[in-house]
Amino acid sequence: MAKQKLSVELISIPNDMIKTIYTACKTCYSAKLPYENFLNAPEDDKMLSLIKRVIGSGHYSTIEHIQLTFAIQNVSRACTHQLVRHRHMSFSQKSQRYVKEKGEFDYIMPSSIEKNPELAKKFEEFIQNTSNLYQEFIEAGILAEDARSILPNAAASSLVASLNLRELIHLSNLRLCTRAQAEIRSLVKAMVDEVIKKEPWLKPYLVPKCERLGYCDEDKSCGRMKTREELMCVNNCAATV
Ligand SMILES: Cc1cc2nc3c(=O)[nH]c(=O)nc-3n(C[C@H](O)[C@H](O)[C@H](O)COP(=O)(O)OP(=O)(O)OC[C@H]3O[C@@H](n4cnc5c(N)ncnc54)[C@H](O)[C@@H]3O)c2cc1C
Repeated sequence: MAKQKLSVELISIPNDMIKTIYTACKTCYSAKLPYENFLNAPEDDKMLSLIKRVIGSGHYSTIEHIQLTFAIQNVSRACTHQLVRHRHMSFSQKSQRYVKEKGEFDYIMPSSIEKNPELAKKFEEFIQNTSNLYQEFIEAGILAEDARSILPNAAASSLVASLNLRELIHLSNLRLCTRAQAEIRSLVKAMVDEVIKKEPWLKPYLVPKCERLGYCDEDKSCGRMKTREELMCVNNCAATV
């Protein structure tokens, strides 16, 4: 049994991301054939100027051509359960049916519990006891697919996840919000950081939704941005002055 830490690697990203999106955008407004647009693509800043206008107008189909794949290692099953709710993503996840936990199972301790030594100790005791019972089941000939039913949400998992750029932006907008749980925020932040290293122009899109909207649409706001209601009041007040 070992406490594990998240790691994320971007294992696949197109080399010609800007040119591909440009070709998709340009084809919508050009008499030329798509491949002519591709071959005659201008320099990056001109391509980006068109791309930003098209994305800004909400023509998101143009960025669906960009596919990204991540190796996501050591996240809790609680976190992967949240991640797999995103229906435009593709997943290949380590199976708890086919992979028998050897010895004791790996786990993720939430940082809020880790900060409290007394509670962290109790958490580890629980993991140890659960691990012992899991092993007892396995040794008694119970299949891993049934023995796993006692494993907690904290059990570590790993997966390969793919998504297109439109979905990555959507994922970031939802899961970088402070209303999302800390672990999935860290995971999505790590994914986004990897992409921004390669494509820095994407930084303004890979943000919590409030930064794109200019206000907070959550029921319980963290206070980072004004809520829609507060903003409307400010605007109305300004209009009456
Ligand atoms: C802070 C937070 C708290 C949450 N709490 C809960 C909770 O308590 N309980 C719970 O069950 N879930 C909860 N969720 C999960 C949430 O309800 C969504 O299932 C998850 O965030 C996926 O979002 P999505 O559907 O927008 O995105 P995706 O599945 O990634 O889809 C992207 C977009 O595609 C479109 N789309 C996809 N599928 C369809 C469809 N079938 N019909 C029409 N349009 C579609 C939508 O526009 C959607 O926004 C929570 C999520 C967050 C971020």
